[in-house]
Amino acid sequence: MSAVASKAASLDLADPLSSKRDLFELPAGIIYLDGNSLGPPPKAAFAELEQAARREWGEGLIRSWNEAGWWSLTDTLGDRVGRLIGAQAGETVVTDTTSINVFKALHAALALRPERRVILAERDSFPTDLYIAEGVAASRPGTELRLAADGADLGTMVDERTAVMLINHVSYRTGALRDMADLTRRAHQAGALVVWDLCHSAGVVPIELDTIGVDFAIGCTYKYLNGGPGAPAFIYANRRHHDGLVQPLSGWWAHAAPFAMESGYRPAAGIRRLLCGTQPILSLRALKAALDALEGVDIADIRAKSLALTRFFMELVDPLCREFGARIITPRGDGRGSQVAIAHEQAYPVIQALIARGIIGDFRAPDIMRFGFAPLYLSFREVADAVDALRDVLASGAWRDSKFSAKALVT
Ligand SMILES: *Cc1c(COP(=O)(O)O)cnc(C)c1O
Repeated sequence: MSAVASKAASLDLADPLSSKRDLFELPAGIIYLDGNSLGPPPKAAFAELEQAARREWGEGLIRSWNEAGWWSLTDTLGDRVGRLIGAQAGETVVTDTTSINVFKALHAALALRPERRVILAERDSFPTDLYIAEGVAASRPGTELRLAADGADLGTMVDERTAVMLINHVSYRTGALRDMADLTRRAHQAGALVVWDLCHSAGVVPIELDTIGVDFAIGCTYKYLNGGPGAPAFIYANRRHHDGLVQPLSGWWAHAAPFAMESGYRPAAGIRRLLCGTQPILSLRALKAALDALEGVDIADIRAKSLALTRFFMELVDPLCREFGARIITPRGDGRGSQVAIAHEQAYPVIQALIARGIIGDFRAPDIMRFGFAPLYLSFREVADAVDALRDVLASGAWRDSKFSAKALVT
């Protein structure tokens, strides 16, 4: 056994999460390093979907809104996501998409700071967050979206005109992890509110929203939470803001008495005010099974393994970077999420050549290979094997085959 293989074997032996892999359906011959984009299905999701579709929909029909708890899934699942992000019960709902929830959270924050007109965000943010912020600014005359340059410290830009700061907890590109406590404190000192986007941290980084005093947070459930393609997102509002919560998508699910069928809108009390309309129950049920897989797992164990997996990967990739003109752009210390990003001129065909060998990562424009490390189902052995494949693709020039340069719709 090589030194690397025996190191991987001893790390796997000491891994307290190794039994969790069995909870997931992963095809043979695949090393899945893209759980930061779409988590794999928990095996229990299939039975859950069968139950929800065949029994509850097929036999229960309309009665299932009450009898199977469909109507309250936004809240019951919201509370379970809340436990993973440091929220009390009643502060989180699972609903709509992250994009839509960014829209609601920014409007709610602006309404709480009516004398202020600036939304502060990062230029390097996941694009939909910025597109939505632009739309929010355009719909509120006088509101301005200000963007911090790549890598700039948002905290230095917040001032008495800033209503709200929109921050990605982990950068989707570089994997850098922002200091939530520090940035939130500095925003609050300037009288501004914060909206944290937890898409790349929920389920894989310990988060303490209540303790830190975060105002709003949003995030997806189909990445490290493994809720399935298009699974509804979540939105958190700190309890201290509930009485003043206003958001423009005032649909009937956010009404104080949805079945009174009143002609005027009266907001529901509490977090339900951030709902809008009817939710995809089948998708919510797949998410329920995914949250079951996280039940009883200590997020500190997840974080420790995540850091160890990414550290191991970077150590093995370093010599390849030197040899093949690539560069790791993910922070080395603990200031990273659970992915490693490598910049390389031929990032796109190299990723395609890896995928052809069953090593699934992804590409982000203009030149980034992204590898996500989900601690619930990945082993150190797989990390070592993935790096062997990467070495082989680079050394053999296999990526030069023209079939690896054809761009697909989704990269
Ligand atoms: C994945 C991701 C999104 C996705 O938004 P959708 O509305 O689900 O398409 C938004 N923001 C960030 C930071 C993301 O990583």
